Amino acid sequence: MIEFKNISKHYELKGQNIRALDEINLTIPAGSIFGIIGYSGAGKSTLIRLINLLERPTHGQIIINQTDFTALDANALRHQRANIGMIFQHFNLMQTKTVADNIEMPLKLLGVAKAERQKRLNELLEFIDLKHKKDAYPDELSGGQKQRVGIARALANHPKVLLCDEATSALDPQTTQSVLELLKKINKEQGITIVMVTHEMDVIESVCDYVSVMEQGKVIENGSTLEIFSQPKHPTTKTFIQTVLQQQLPVNILNNLENKNHNSIYNLQFLGTSAQETVVQAAIKQFDISLNILFANMTEINGSVIGQMFIQLLGDAEIIQQTITFFEKNGVKVEQSGVKV
Ligand code: ADP
Ligand code: MG
Repeated sequence: MIEFKNISKHYELKGQNIRALDEINLTIPAGSIFGIIGYSGAGKSTLIRLINLLERPTHGQIIINQTDFTALDANALRHQRANIGMIFQHFNLMQTKTVADNIEMPLKLLGVAKAERQKRLNELLEFIDLKHKKDAYPDELSGGQKQRVGIARALANHPKVLLCDEATSALDPQTTQSVLELLKKINKEQGITIVMVTHEMDVIESVCDYVSVMEQGKVIENGSTLEIFSQPKHPTTKTFIQTVLQQQLPVNILNNLENKNHNSIYNLQFLGTSAQETVVQAAIKQFDISLNILFANMTEINGSVIGQMFIQLLGDAEIIQQTITFFEKNGVKVEQSGVKV
């Protein structure tokens, strides 16, 4: 478990005081994949660099598995840091060293004997599926391959925590997915806690169990990924969700409607796959209204499904209200309009 307790980080820049982090309190459960999302400048990189104390906080404590990292002396810190691996957006490989040398480097620095290093190297090359590139240089690799080498290097010393700062931001969507799958595998098979900083909501959607949303050095929202996707509260969170979930009715569908009254359009949100049709059919049967399904889709959020349906409800205002209440009683989230105007 990683705990941030009242963490602040201030920088002095040209006489100005920058609050990169402002009173952060956050708990990252052991064994989870924990996402931190925010726009550029929100403080994400500063936050993740505090975990292994590459930066020191101005105030507050970082506690990892009951050890207060901020209270450790240099020697103890070096020891503890060996339990934390890190990967980066631009991979940070040594260009003049081969794949094998890059992966072995952290073990060399820790004084691990050659035979043991070789054994671990072979395991890791197998794991990242790059045995055939052992003697290649970073220049000869694709972006996805470079990040796999970065991952192998980060795992060399069997860390308990893996920090990822925009690890897929320089990769195309397909390569991003394959790297995310690899990270998921590492988490599931080796129980390694993964902290994932990103500005891309689909990264969170694909792999994270929990997510914190950051803005201007603060955590503005926090929860399980499913909670955040199904019930975003802060406007910034909603904006991020919109990049993944269709939250507004496509304009061409609206244009083709006979009755274009925006107030008659509702966005229904369902958790889980099964109930959708049953609930809608039951509503049509029970209430004397016109219920027109305009658009429906489903999104998978790290193993759970969120279904969305845009409907038009026409008829008596009171009966429409009863219909909405009926939906809500059946666990459906109902929002009016959602029309893009
Ligand atoms: P993010 O990773 O979310 O884009 P950062 O953590 O890199 O954000 O930066 C947060 C804020 O702190 C920004 O305003 C940035 O300019 C400032 N900052 C980060 N590092 C330094 C530094 N070494 N010196 C001065 N200001 C910094
Ligand atoms: Mg950053």
